[in-house]
Amino acid sequence: MRLLVVALAVALITVHAQSPAPVSYVVTFPEPEHHWMQVEVTFPELGPTPLRTRMSRSSPGRYAVHEFAKNVFAIEARDGRGTALAVERVDADSWRIAGHDGTVRVTYRIFGDHVDGTYMAIDTTHAHLNTPAAFLWADDLASRPVRIRIVPPVEAGWTGVATQLFTTPDPWTFTAPNLQYFLDSPLEIADLVTGGFTLHTPTGETRAFRLAVHALDATQADVDALAGLVERLAREQAVVFGDVPALEPGAYTILLDLVPWADSDGMEHRNSTVITIPGLSLRTDEGRRSALPTISHEMFHLWNVERLRPADLEPFDFTRGNVSCCLWLAEGFTQYYGPLLLHRAGLSNALPIGSAIAALTAPGRRVRSAVEMSQQATFADAAVSNDAHDRSRTFFSYYTHGAAIALGLDLALRDRTGGRLSLDDYMRQLWRTYGAVPAPAPGLVARPYTLADLRQTLGALVDDQAFADDFFARYIEGREAIDYRRLLALAGFVLEPVAPTGAWPGEVAITETSGGLVVGGPAGTLVPFDTPAYAAGLDTGDRIVTIDGQPATRAAWEALRRGTPGDSHALVIERRDGRRAQTTLTMAADPARRIVPAESRRPLTDAERAFRDAWLGSRIR
Ligand SMILES: [Zn+2]
Repeated sequence: MRLLVVALAVALITVHAQSPAPVSYVVTFPEPEHHWMQVEVTFPELGPTPLRTRMSRSSPGRYAVHEFAKNVFAIEARDGRGTALAVERVDADSWRIAGHDGTVRVTYRIFGDHVDGTYMAIDTTHAHLNTPAAFLWADDLASRPVRIRIVPPVEAGWTGVATQLFTTPDPWTFTAPNLQYFLDSPLEIADLVTGGFTLHTPTGETRAFRLAVHALDATQADVDALAGLVERLAREQAVVFGDVPALEPGAYTILLDLVPWADSDGMEHRNSTVITIPGLSLRTDEGRRSALPTISHEMFHLWNVERLRPADLEPFDFTRGNVSCCLWLAEGFTQYYGPLLLHRAGLSNALPIGSAIAALTAPGRRVRSAVEMSQQATFADAAVSNDAHDRSRTFFSYYTHGAAIALGLDLALRDRTGGRLSLDDYMRQLWRTYGAVPAPAPGLVARPYTLADLRQTLGALVDDQAFADDFFARYIEGREAIDYRRLLALAGFVLEPVAPTGAWPGEVAITETSGGLVVGGPAGTLVPFDTPAYAAGLDTGDRIVTIDGQPATRAAWEALRRGTPGDSHALVIERRDGRRAQTTLTMAADPARRIVPAESRRPLTDAERAFRDAWLGSRIR
């Protein structure tokens, strides 16, 4: 017995000797009304080389490059004895501090007034902090634990902190096991109203879910009512994957910031999500339900992307844009399941089928594959460009495109297996093979997947690799459209032309002026490839002067649609330099499509009803 105690003591000493001192942050808010905070960060137990500290340039889940360093000011450094140290700016995002005694204590101020999932905001009501937007860190100390203490402003009425960081006995102090986890952990510090519920795993373990709401008018009863709705949804989500993973800090936290000056946003994290909906009131059932679509999407990420994760996002690189093959699955399949699971939970009547129309008609789908669109995320997801860009005709969101692929694959699997397999089985197989493998440390994923893994797993699921190879080659790595008309018909939905005999010049933005129709409109939207207008040589900045010899008006342009496909029209156009040219516009068939429930015209067949119920009905038994 005594021997055991000694051995244990030795083990504890060994662990202590090996665990490095944490990087620790103290955050204060001297003047929250001016939208800045003060951070003191201590980097202890440093080697003899200069310390390099930096701000992030990217943030998990938002793929554009951000220059978070731009908001840092009044940066100073001292060593462990309090002696001032020179702070040298190395590049736009980092600073070098030499001549220290093994400890560097950096203080800085940082501005932020943007409430969403990516940036930070400080005012008298709250501090809303996305960690990469707010905190300096050091490349060399990425494996160190992190400690952070929040000092709320006196008399501000901020009652607590909502975060996925690990709690300590002090309610204002939190820890993270490493830098990856810390930088994935947003904080909401405000007068919070909290609620929650628990789920049970198939093996009987409990999983805690918390809601923390910052709103101008939410009551405890409102948040409890919302928690009840979210619990129904979460139970339906868990059925898809067959499990709820261990939540490292002990809970999954939904941070809802509903102040009127917020941006509309949702952002996933390993054990939490930040959802900002400007001015949403939870006082009514209608208000609470309007938060559910975003919650459904973000909470599905608890599995899909946070643990079932593309290898090219793991670990996340905070110093550059992160490019992934597979956001069509990470975001797009999540986009599909968001409304589907609300429908299954009886919380919404919206159907997850609209993406099929977009996939059939979006100009960008013919330009880049779903994989290539995913790789464009750095330029599309909150990216800013000063110069003109061609996204209107070359980009098709991997959210919508991915949702359409999920819809097509779900229906195709049900069709080819007589209902034995569905997309749920594919997600569960991916989950078991990749997502469910225990993490080596909180903030990391043990077995992320590649594009080839996704293809191989589909082949194994249906026991037909040729089917999987063909599906990926055509619809995921290729640019073909799935046969939604045939697949939706199985569930009693009719996909049909909106204007079967209509003529179509292409989706062309025009602005009517006294001198004719300016192509591109105020936004400079480009004329899509493979359209009659493109073939006629029209593009943004051109002016259509006459149509068939008559002055070009919006009414005359719209009247062209009342002709038939194949009709030709003589146009006089004027280029940007004033030179005029003649061209011929040959109308095509209108590609617009709509989806109509078959029961609006005839009774559903038993087979259609059964197919639809198996797909859209609750799976909780
Ligand atoms: Zn998402």
